[in-house]
Amino acid sequence: NTPLQDDDPEIYELIQKEKHRQFSGLELIASENFTSFAVMEANGSPLTNKYSEGLPGARYYGGNEYIDQIENLCRVRALKAFRLNPVDWGVNVQPYSGSTANFAAFTALIQPHDRLMGLDLPSGGHLTHGWQTAKKKVSSSSIYFESMPYQVDPSTGIIDYDRLEQTSLLFKPKLLICGASAYPRDWDYARLRKIADLHGAYLLADIAHIGGLIAGQEANNPFEVCDVVTTTTHKTLRGPRAGLIFFRKTKEDLETRVNNAVFPSCQGGPHNNTIAGVAVALKQAASPEFQGYAKQVRVNAVALADALNGYGYKLMTGGTENHLILWDLRPLHLTGSKLEKICDMANITINKNSIHGDSSMFSPGGVRVGTSALTSRSFKEQDFVKVAEFLHRAVQIAVSIQDKAASKLMKDFVVACQDNDEISTLKNEV
Ligand code: PLP
Repeated sequence: NTPLQDDDPEIYELIQKEKHRQFSGLELIASENFTSFAVMEANGSPLTNKYSEGLPGARYYGGNEYIDQIENLCRVRALKAFRLNPVDWGVNVQPYSGSTANFAAFTALIQPHDRLMGLDLPSGGHLTHGWQTAKKKVSSSSIYFESMPYQVDPSTGIIDYDRLEQTSLLFKPKLLICGASAYPRDWDYARLRKIADLHGAYLLADIAHIGGLIAGQEANNPFEVCDVVTTTTHKTLRGPRAGLIFFRKTKEDLETRVNNAVFPSCQGGPHNNTIAGVAVALKQAASPEFQGYAKQVRVNAVALADALNGYGYKLMTGGTENHLILWDLRPLHLTGSKLEKICDMANITINKNSIHGDSSMFSPGGVRVGTSALTSRSFKEQDFVKVAEFLHRAVQIAVSIQDKAASKLMKDFVVACQDNDEISTLKNEV
């Protein structure tokens, strides 16, 4: 027996069940991944016992000799993974998550009630980029700062840079944020820099979703023009759950401002076990194998998009340039929640997602599907053609759910999904 089995069999059992769920299903959530056993070993280590408020060499607690070395290694590896020169760029590796990294970065760059612009949530943006509804300021980024979101062009699904420029000339934000949670296209960072420069705004890229693709040189490079770059470490980067803030050292006193914003402004003691896990993941992310992985993630997403297009479905922007697909189910008179539920019953994990123009945030008209997790389990293009076939079958069931035929269809579907022979690589654990 393991210590956990003896001490707390209830939690142990639930972990075993979740492990089984993760490894016996099709994980298609675009923000998730399977981190390596090496990362999990670091993350579950005695480093969790240590307090170390402050930065390496300047802590508020004793006993940080090894913790300092670990955090320094993590910082060096973060810069290396993104090919950054340490003379120009620095990084804070302490944020607990992407959301806290963003709030700390905003706190470093602008004052309370200063203006910011980020991609609207229904256009694919993230909550923390100033999300608010007509009635309510939802995110702390809209409560403590004044937010004016920009949108995608509803006819193409692509960011309307011209309109963004016009609005920003009127609104004059101090901070322009790019980056998204459900945007299947790459970003025009040079254009965004020009827009920010029209009125001296900072430009921040939140690369939480595409960090692994940028590290693997499979996406445009925001570091060329941005002042600050934030990311999570657990999506395409395939590390444990945390955040990073990169800052341009050569601009004003960004280094001090970002470091002070993380601690003591927004956080207390860093999670050293997680920082060690991030360091392991960043070492992996700088390897040639990871470049191959990033490429395969993208090729797989294109294969999946092509196959879904082949069934005649409507994908936002028509396809994808990254790891995710935003699938508009409204032409099928189907909600994202319904398809998500049907897929859940067959151990296919996707998430409902709003589509620009949706009337309700609570019953969105689409789903988001990503390829990073299953690519970590060695899925190739032909496997994603099979995944598209499963998704097609799920849609057929969802649209005929009132019919008697639906329960038979569902039963066959669940059996087929549980039959690992249908997708031969499904048994591979990373
Ligand atoms: N930024 C973007 C673009 C995201 O998609 C997410 C999470 O989905 C976050 C930030 C927040 O990350 P976390 O959940 O680690 O707080």
